[in-house]
Amino acid sequence: MTGPTGDVLPGPALAGPTEADWAAAVAAVRRLPTGARVLLVCHVNPDGDALGSMLGFGLGLRRLGVRQLQATFPGPPEVPEPLRWLPGLDLLVPAAEAYPDPDLVVCFDAASASRLGELADRLDTAGEALVLDHHASNTGFGRLHLVDPGAAATSVVAEELLGRLDVPLDAEIAACLYVALTTDTGSFRFEATTPAVHQLAARLLATGIRPGDISRQVFDTRPFGAVRLFGEVLGRAVLDCPAAAGHGLVWTYATMDDLVRHDQRPYVLESLIDSVRCTAEADVACVLKQVGPEEWAVSLRSKGAVDVSRVAMALGGGGHRFAAGFTGLGSAQKVLGRIRAELDGALITS
Ligand code: AMP
Ligand code: MN
Ligand code: MN
Repeated sequence: MTGPTGDVLPGPALAGPTEADWAAAVAAVRRLPTGARVLLVCHVNPDGDALGSMLGFGLGLRRLGVRQLQATFPGPPEVPEPLRWLPGLDLLVPAAEAYPDPDLVVCFDAASASRLGELADRLDTAGEALVLDHHASNTGFGRLHLVDPGAAATSVVAEELLGRLDVPLDAEIAACLYVALTTDTGSFRFEATTPAVHQLAARLLATGIRPGDISRQVFDTRPFGAVRLFGEVLGRAVLDCPAAAGHGLVWTYATMDDLVRHDQRPYVLESLIDSVRCTAEADVACVLKQVGPEEWAVSLRSKGAVDVSRVAMALGGGGHRFAAGFTGLGSAQKVLGRIRAELDGALITS
């Protein structure tokens, strides 16, 4: 069995939801009374899987007749430009306006309650709390769990639940779920790209969505300023061959000042790691994105020699075996030093 980004998963401990789990989740939706308030929440700094699975599922709930329906995420209510066309964006409300005590809260793509930021309290105040996720490191927060570490994206779980709720796929739902699926499989390049992933993609494409248009908007369009910014940030990348017991580390950083100089929003840096991780000489890639004077959002990737989720977890974050992240405090050099120190202990030996 393989998980997100090629993670080879051990046996039954990481098995996906049981029939009882699915039945409980279906019942939680079916028993909602008329006028019930449902709140959908995805992780902070949402990516394509977080927003796509949440909005796709939200549109499905709307088709089921749920009228009091909100979708939200912690932090500033800013949707990254490449995702600003997604169907269902009208469901979004700022975190401050989210129902304080919904009848049902559904969480998407968050491995831990901390990823829900200021909205984590809804897990206690809501009548019921359902968690849809695919992180092997999921902490088991919430009450009802549909967590499948073998799923390539949270949208795989969302689509199955919609199917069990007898919601037919339409082009709007499919566009959301397709964005989620392509985001987390690296456009069907990662090991998690199983036959089932392609079968799901086929069901989504059969609704008439246009994969060329979607991919161009989500992955292949950025402002010229971002192109120049990438040039500068890639130009200062460092190759550290002895790191990770000789498997190599390539890293770079982008400051808030870099963003200001090129007149860019932080989301443009999300794809930077993809340009860094292609370095042949390094197994591990790292990008430090400044989010405060002494605060960095750190992205880590590995090609297979290092379990970067262990590095990220040791430093307060999480993620998947070959794609993980955390928030680093202090100077870039200090944060990098901490990462470097964790790499040797995170080597994959078997
Ligand atoms: P990113 O590098 O931001 O694309 O994140 C890669 C993966 O790492 C995500 O799918 C998350 O599962 C995880 N991740 C990133 N940042 C954090 C964080 N601060 N805390 C926990 N998990 C994180
Ligand atoms: Mn995500
Ligand atoms: Mn995901």
